[in-house]
Amino acid sequence: MRLKNRKYLKDRAWIELDRDALRHNVAALRSLLPKGCSLMPVLKADAYGHGAVAVAKELEKMGVRSFCVACISEAIDLRRHGIRGDILILGYTHPELFPLLRRYRLTQTIVDAAYGELLGQYGKRLRVQIGIDTGMHRLGERAEHLDKLCGIFSMKNLKIEGAFTHLCTDDTESANDQAFTIQQAERFFRVIHELEKKGHICPKVHLQASYGVLNYPELAGDFARVGIALYGVKSARTDYDRFQADLRPVLSLKARVSSVRELAPGESAGYGLTFTADRPTRLASLAIGYADGLPRSLSDGMGQVLLNGKKAPIAGRICMDQTLVDVTELKTVQPGDTAVLIGRQGDEELSVYEAAEAAGTITNEILSRLGRRLTRV
Ligand SMILES: *Cc1c(COP(=O)(O)O)cnc(C)c1O
Repeated sequence: MRLKNRKYLKDRAWIELDRDALRHNVAALRSLLPKGCSLMPVLKADAYGHGAVAVAKELEKMGVRSFCVACISEAIDLRRHGIRGDILILGYTHPELFPLLRRYRLTQTIVDAAYGELLGQYGKRLRVQIGIDTGMHRLGERAEHLDKLCGIFSMKNLKIEGAFTHLCTDDTESANDQAFTIQQAERFFRVIHELEKKGHICPKVHLQASYGVLNYPELAGDFARVGIALYGVKSARTDYDRFQADLRPVLSLKARVSSVRELAPGESAGYGLTFTADRPTRLASLAIGYADGLPRSLSDGMGQVLLNGKKAPIAGRICMDQTLVDVTELKTVQPGDTAVLIGRQGDEELSVYEAAEAAGTITNEILSRLGRRLTRV
C-alpha cells in the first residue's frame, strides 16, 4: 500500500487509475492511426466512470486537444475545471441552453436538419458539427438527404467545424457486419464529396470510435472518437480486434472490509436470507454496494472479489452500500483489509470482463455506472 496517500487509506470504496496504462493506450491507439488523424477521446459518463476531469487533464499533457462528451453538463464541468481543448457535444442540447454553448466555447452536434434550423435561428454564431446518419438510425441527418444537408450550410450563424457519422457493426468479424461498415463509410465519404462539389466544405470529418480504430484504421478521417479502448478494454472479451491491440486496463475498483463474522452451519445471511452456511463459515462485509455501481446481479455467488490475493465469492444479495463475501477459505481476512472488485491483487486478476459477463452486460455499462460516491485516486 502507498502509505504516502493517507487519504485513500481511509476510504470505504474507491477507484484507482493507472496513469501509465492511460499513456500506454494513447500511444497504442495513435500507432494504429494514419498520419493526420488525431485522437478525440470520448469523456462521456464521467469518462466511462474513470473521472472525466482527471482523465482530461492527463490527456491534455499527452497533447490531446479535442474531446467529446454526451451532453452539455459534462462539457461545462470540464470547462469549469480548466479544460481548454475543443469539446464536441455528441447528443442533444435544449435550445434554451444555446447561450451556454457560446459562453463555454462548445461545439454542438446537429442531430438532424430540423435541429440544425433551431441552432441556425438562435441569432448568434454557434460552433457545430453535422451528424450524418449512414445506417445506425440514431442521430444525424440521413445521408440520402443531400438537400437538407446543403440547407444547413446556408445558415449564416452556424460555424460548421466538421461532420461525422457513427459505425454500428464494426465490432464483429462477420462478413455481413464488415460489409455494412464499409457501406456506412462509403455513404459518409460520398456525401462529404457531394457537399464539397456544391462548395460546402466540412473542415473536419470523422467516423471511427474504438472499434473503428481497432478494426478499420484505414477508414481514418481527421479524428478518431475513442472511448472504451482508451480505458484499456474492449466492450466484450470476444469482440473483433483485428490487430490484437495491446491495451491495458486503466481502472481498478477496491473496497474496504468493514466487519468479519462467523456463521454456524444452518445460519443464513443478507436480505431474503438467500445465503445459508453449509459449514462453519466466515463472512466479510465490504463497504461497497449497488449504489456504487456494483451490479446487483452479481449477488449469490455470481460475482467474486479478491482478498489476500485469492478469489472469494459474493454471498447473498448485494445491498445498496454493503456486500457480503464468503471468506471461509481465507483465514486471515480482517476489518480494514482491501478487497479488489476489478483489478489485480497478488498474482490474481479479476478483470472488468468477468464482472460484465457475470452481470450479462458489456464493460462499458459496468464502468460508466460506477458511482459518484467512490473516491478516485
Ligand atoms: C460513445 C460514442 C463514441 C465512443 O465509443 P467507444 O466504442 O466507447 O469508443 C464515439 N462516438 C459516438 C457518437 C459515441 O456516441
